[in-house]
Amino acid sequence: MQKSPRIAVIGAGLGGAAATSLLDKAGFNVRVYEQAPGFARLGAGIHVGPNVMKVMERIGIADALNSTGCHPDYWYSRDWKTGEVIAQIPLGDYALSHYGSSYLTVHRGDFHELLVKAIPSDRLAFNKKLSKIDDRGDVVMLHFTDGSTEEADIVIGADGINSKVRDTLLGEALPKYTGYVGHRAVFPISSVRDFQHDMCTKWWSDDRHMMVYFVTGKKDEIYYVTGVPEETWDMSKSWVPSSKDEMRAAFDGWHQGVQSLIDATQEVTKWPLLERDPLPLWSRGRLVMLGDACHPMKPHMAQGAAMAIEDAAMLVRCFSEAGLDDHAAAFALYEANRAERAGRVQLVSHNNTWLRTNENPDWCFGYDVFNVPLVSPAAS
Ligand code: FAD
Repeated sequence: MQKSPRIAVIGAGLGGAAATSLLDKAGFNVRVYEQAPGFARLGAGIHVGPNVMKVMERIGIADALNSTGCHPDYWYSRDWKTGEVIAQIPLGDYALSHYGSSYLTVHRGDFHELLVKAIPSDRLAFNKKLSKIDDRGDVVMLHFTDGSTEEADIVIGADGINSKVRDTLLGEALPKYTGYVGHRAVFPISSVRDFQHDMCTKWWSDDRHMMVYFVTGKKDEIYYVTGVPEETWDMSKSWVPSSKDEMRAAFDGWHQGVQSLIDATQEVTKWPLLERDPLPLWSRGRLVMLGDACHPMKPHMAQGAAMAIEDAAMLVRCFSEAGLDDHAAAFALYEANRAERAGRVQLVSHNNTWLRTNENPDWCFGYDVFNVPLVSPAAS
């Protein structure tokens, strides 16, 4: 392999954008190819825990994120009917002192914009939809739908749940519909009447929930995302519009805190919650995957993007530690240091138990991808 292997990242989502910035900062020759013509501020929020903020500090956008996002003092879990607090997990100042980094809730579009802006412009190509990969052993040919081709020495599939890189490695297969949908809505807090919302609350019944939090530092925009059972989903659609009436039916009889949000809803969309079983491999030849491409999960720990970003940081760490002369060894080191944690998060997310009781979240929030001792592939 040449001195400076050409690394192609496919997809500039949260995982791919983080990987590209970190590779560039570590001195690697990287370029990211994104199918979209650009990114819009779509209506969704996201949690950014201390485990992710450690990576944002390395990328150099932690201060900007800290001033953009909201810093919830607690994660409250509440009973769907009575509103009684059933768990109260300290975040805020506690997160900062205990984990060494903050815990934020933020608009996903604002977070993504900061991450994408951190990528030097000559490292990022929009309007590049990967259609075919040809790993020739000594080089990989990337084919795009616009008819263009590029060569690369290493390809990182950060192309999400319907990953072309995954299809190439393992054959085409749709993800599994879990039997649950998530409704998502963001709107100004000024439209909410008759209830004072905490900064971050999950409302729980036995078969469904609504997670609610602010997505700006000014606390002027609030977001909810649900998990609601629904038997079938048309897999040709990635989301569909929903409505206040549908929300009222799904949350009939729930506490006034939830009703106040449904009443204030302006626009609400509905998304299928999808998963895959753990994959038999994360890499082969010159191709390796991260994030939803290799371990998509239900969003119930609010850690799906976090796992994609941690993967990105660990992959870059393994490239730096092991070098790229033997890229298979670097890939094996990466998988050995990520598969167990990603699998654990995937399982807890599937079971939807996270922070329903006063459990200790240190194993998740306290993880420092840059300093955790590395295990060797043989030991994993
Ligand atoms: P993606 O974000 O899906 O990015 C993939 C990128 O690849 C996209 O930009 C796409 O355009 C591009 N791409 C795809 N195919 C191609 C191609 N052929 N060629 C070129 N580019 C391509 N996670 C959290 O951490 N916290 C939360 O609070 C949270 N809430 C969620 C709520 C819901 C309802 C859902 C459904 C998910 C939630 N998640 C959350 C999960 C999170 O959204 C995903 O885990 C995360 O986006 C995965 O990041 P990724 O970079 O792997 O993939």
